[in-house]
Amino acid sequence: MLLVQAGASSVHSKEVREMLENWYRSRAEEVITRRVQHYALQLGWPMPKVLIRNQKKRWGSCNARGELRFNWRLVMLPLRVLDYVVVHEMAHLKVLNHSPRFWSLVERIMPDYKARHQALHELGPGLYW
Ligand SMILES: [Zn+2]
Repeated sequence: MLLVQAGASSVHSKEVREMLENWYRSRAEEVITRRVQHYALQLGWPMPKVLIRNQKKRWGSCNARGELRFNWRLVMLPLRVLDYVVVHEMAHLKVLNHSPRFWSLVERIMPDYKARHQALHELGPGLYW
């Protein structure tokens, strides 16, 4: 848990924002790595390299070297929605595009991915402060 004791005006101060961001980033590192591990184990895939980044426009990405990058803001979402982004990026380890083959792989790993994807669209924009 993180408690910020500050007056309303200081919520907008640079120091408070940086402190919050640092706290969320370290939580994100812990939680996202754990979830990637969970799915890697479930799928019998090797553990990929996980990097936590400050991405302005994306929740996650995967490159041809098999490195996964995640936005630290994901940690503010419900776990089921965070998990959708984890599964989406992990599916890119096998299929780098968004072809029907990619989506059927996502669906095989996470049959209710559509509802979680929708929740990400609804909740995601509120995470930018
Ligand atoms: Zn994608």
